[in-house]
Amino acid sequence: MEILVCVKRVPDTAENEFELNSAGNDLDRDDLVYSVNEWDNYAVEEAIQIVDKVGGSVTVITVGDDESEEVLRREMAMGANNGILLSDDAFEGSDGKAIAAILKAETQKGNYDLILSGAQADEGAGQIGGMLAAMMDYPYASLVNKIEVGDGKIIVGREIEGGNQEMNEMQLPCVLSIQTGINEPRYVGIRGIRKVASVDIPVKGAGDLGIDTASVGEAGSKTKRVDYFVPDMGEGAEMLEGSTDEIIEKLIEKLKAKGGL
Ligand SMILES: Cc1cc2nc3c(=O)[nH]c(=O)nc-3n(C[C@H](O)[C@H](O)[C@H](O)COP(=O)(O)OP(=O)(O)OC[C@H]3O[C@@H](n4cnc5c(N)ncnc54)[C@H](O)[C@@H]3O)c2cc1C
Repeated sequence: MEILVCVKRVPDTAENEFELNSAGNDLDRDDLVYSVNEWDNYAVEEAIQIVDKVGGSVTVITVGDDESEEVLRREMAMGANNGILLSDDAFEGSDGKAIAAILKAETQKGNYDLILSGAQADEGAGQIGGMLAAMMDYPYASLVNKIEVGDGKIIVGREIEGGNQEMNEMQLPCVLSIQTGINEPRYVGIRGIRKVASVDIPVKGAGDLGIDTASVGEAGSKTKRVDYFVPDMGEGAEMLEGSTDEIIEKLIEKLKAKGGL
């Protein structure tokens, strides 16, 4: 089975203090520590496990800049066979639909049976997998937490409201967005990282992909972020300050004082 996994390089929430940029329309991204989107890590692990069972290969793909190559290498160190970086100045300022269109241009060049995305990434839109499926005219399932591979089809479990589980049979090729908890992603050691350090990762731009630059980037994006802010604190709300341990301690004290514990 040929599997393509879409991965995104995102700011690491465990490693950064976030502040807004001076324009007030995004995070201040200078000096942030980045890592692979958590949901994508589960998707890559699942792809590797499927290929271990039925054969085939796993390709990881991202739309990003030069630095995004590090997340491809990390996922290759984990066990993905190939990486593809889609990068071009013309992609700057792409909204979700434009990102999906860029991914589609490369996806349709391959012969993938299964395409996986994370259920969501740092911006929480949860849109890329569904949009890519629609653009490819492939069936799609979101929030997938179980996959069983059959002959030309798969059985897919979805987490639904109230802790209930839904199972669906789907024909291949299809697109799935993967929910956290589907598996336990394997540890990536320094030896694995070294092993793939010099593996060639092709970089493809708009020209290689046959993309009209007017259809992506800022020019092709019909969504415009106009503001980005922390909401005002509501009446009676209190923001606990300090390290995680200090915040937990303060929270426990408050819960005890209010009779909640
Ligand atoms: C007006 C506007 C301008 C923007 N400009 C930029 C910009 O200049 N540079 C920039 O990096 N982002 C930019 N973004 C954000 C970019 O469009 C987001 O990456 C995209 O909207 C995905 O949103 P999300 O993180 O919520 O992903 P979701 O849709 O929540 O992600 C779901 C899954 O989609 C896949 N996915 C998401 N993004 C990528 C990716 N880049 N490559 C491969 N797979 C991916 C992953 O599998 C991920 O788990 C912009 C967004 C807007 C609205």
